[in-house]
Amino acid sequence: MKIDEAYASLNLIQDFIAPGSSNRPGQKLVPRFITVHNTDNASSNANAAAHAKYQKGADARARKVSWHFTVDDKAAFQSVPTNEVAWHAASSQGNGSSIGVEICMHPEMNVSDAYNKAALLIALLAKRSNIPLPAGIVQHHHWSGKHCPRVLRDKPGGWESFVQSVVIAHNGLEEIEAIDLQAGHDHDHGDAADPVESPDEWRGDHKVIARKGLRLRSGPGTDFSTITILPFGTSVKVLSRMADWVQVQIDPGEGADGFVHSAFVDPLG
Ligand SMILES: [Zn+2]
Repeated sequence: MKIDEAYASLNLIQDFIAPGSSNRPGQKLVPRFITVHNTDNASSNANAAAHAKYQKGADARARKVSWHFTVDDKAAFQSVPTNEVAWHAASSQGNGSSIGVEICMHPEMNVSDAYNKAALLIALLAKRSNIPLPAGIVQHHHWSGKHCPRVLRDKPGGWESFVQSVVIAHNGLEEIEAIDLQAGHDHDHGDAADPVESPDEWRGDHKVIARKGLRLRSGPGTDFSTITILPFGTSVKVLSRMADWVQVQIDPGEGADGFVHSAFVDPLG
């Protein structure tokens, strides 16, 4: 499946816990694992939307519980960004290294649709964060000894076949190509915001001047995920500019590798 079609089929809805809430600590997460849970809630209508709503409420704040995604047969609700720690593993090691995915158990759910959606979500997350498979998919049980994910653990071979379905989904993901921006459709607003600068001054070869390194991000803003940290002195080629952000190429060749804040790169000699 092509990556864009895969994302579309998740029906992914971002319904974040408010920043600053006691169950959204705001610590940086570089995910190396994906922790799989079952919700343990077999009540009627205990679906993904209801679990996302729960995480925004007083009980979840008081208990300091949170997780990144809740999946049912219809949708995947995201409650915490994937570059932030959530509290789902009952283990600081688990919370500090993994994205938490809860799979619903309510009676109205089409079970196979829900597990297929969860497998596809985990495959996409693993691809985006370079998490190795199958080693990077773990049970909640792995971190704390809890009997979770209950449904997968109770079914003989259930966990193994779920992991296998993630690997198959992952292997089936096909990259797509970025378009070339067409002449006459220049959406670059940098020149308009800063008319004294000559249009080409900021293009071409630069070096990173941030002493402690510079975050390479997937888009033009701090809301976008960090791809890597570029060390001081790294050579980058600036390709385009969007307000204060520039799109850069790190490795020689065709195409862009990400975005950095323009204040921390300087033209070469
Ligand atoms: Zn769990």
